[in-house]
Amino acid sequence: MPRLVMKFGGTSVADLDRIRNVANKVQREVDNGYEVIVIVSAMSGKTNELVGWVRDASSAPGSNTPGFYDAREYDAVVSSGEQVTSGLLAITLQEMGIQARSWQGWQVPVKTTSAHGAARIEEIPSDNLDAKFATGMQVAVVAGFQGVSPDGRITTLGRGGSDTTAVAFAAALNAERCDIYTDVDGIYTTDPRITRKARKLEKIAYEEMLELASLGAKVLQTRSVELAMRYKVRLQVLSSFSDEPGTLVCDEEEIMEQNAVAGVAYSRDEAKMTLISVADRPGVAAAIFGPLAEAGVNVDMIVQNISEEGRTDMTFSCPVDDVARATKAIEDAKAAGTINYKELDADTGVAKVSIVGIGMRSHAGVAQRMFKALADDNINIKVITTSEIKVSVLVDRKYMELAVQSLHDAFELEKAS
Ligand code: ASP
Ligand code: MG
Repeated sequence: MPRLVMKFGGTSVADLDRIRNVANKVQREVDNGYEVIVIVSAMSGKTNELVGWVRDASSAPGSNTPGFYDAREYDAVVSSGEQVTSGLLAITLQEMGIQARSWQGWQVPVKTTSAHGAARIEEIPSDNLDAKFATGMQVAVVAGFQGVSPDGRITTLGRGGSDTTAVAFAAALNAERCDIYTDVDGIYTTDPRITRKARKLEKIAYEEMLELASLGAKVLQTRSVELAMRYKVRLQVLSSFSDEPGTLVCDEEEIMEQNAVAGVAYSRDEAKMTLISVADRPGVAAAIFGPLAEAGVNVDMIVQNISEEGRTDMTFSCPVDDVARATKAIEDAKAAGTINYKELDADTGVAKVSIVGIGMRSHAGVAQRMFKALADDNINIKVITTSEIKVSVLVDRKYMELAVQSLHDAFELEKAS
């Protein structure tokens, strides 16, 4: 029998009524002839509550710092939300006459590394599930987000990890598709709150989705998309509150017609930092970005410019929240004499706007069209970076919405290709 993985996020299983709604969707796929593996999240808000309890119980109440508490016990606590929803959905399915049972990570087993709180899935042997399906089980309801370490302790995969659980099961059990049910009905050309012209995409390539996911479209956990791409798992993102088809995330070969640009992404709270006039000699970049990495600053764009007398200006961008840490790391390095500059300039009022599309590889002039559109709206570009399938610019934050709208118009993203 063909297999299907269905994953339901926290808002889809937020109470018993919604769990019944989920059960109806599962029943439909059983009737369609699938062996179904359902991956559930905890009820929405539950994991946050559990994390809060762990922090309050630890010796430094309210502390965000891992290490104050035993990470193995953190996992024992925060994995429990999924245990509850998996059992409740199994009961609901049984009430409907479906042969269903719950599976915790250790029962499958979902074998992970022992990096508690951020474990990676290493292997999901399918023997146990295969044997149960062979003896009549119709639905396996699996607790998402959790696994078991080599020494038998419960692990969790990091926040949002049940998307990754779902993709890993689809790969391990050879499912035909992995349907991710969530509270949005698909992937859009851009954020519909910014322009009503945003259009739901029928299909999007893995690589595009990866760029969009890491650029702030928070529909899928980035790791789950990486995994789907590696194992060629076809992913569908769709709403659990409607019956509309969603967006298929798939190999680019499945996408016949390709617009140059698939979507416009943005990231609102960026900062641009410039070290003015640093020495232009080997080792300078390493001396600057080493301390930033150690301080945990999430550096994104980097631009180096020659200024007068063979000295250079080094500009980088990072999230606004990282500016204080970045400033301290750089000033400390200056005090220690490992770097030298005239001035450190921080602009905390910028946003990043990006166009993404695998079609850029074969269409010429895409970047030019982007710059022209921004110029026509009088939007000044502060920094530009490009990759094979992406062009990103930093602009003043107050122009972010306008930039997104004008790029959406310039590339006619409201029209299907
Ligand atoms: N319940 C977990 C979380 O909130 C995992 C998930 O929902 O994907 O992070
Ligand atoms: Mg989620």
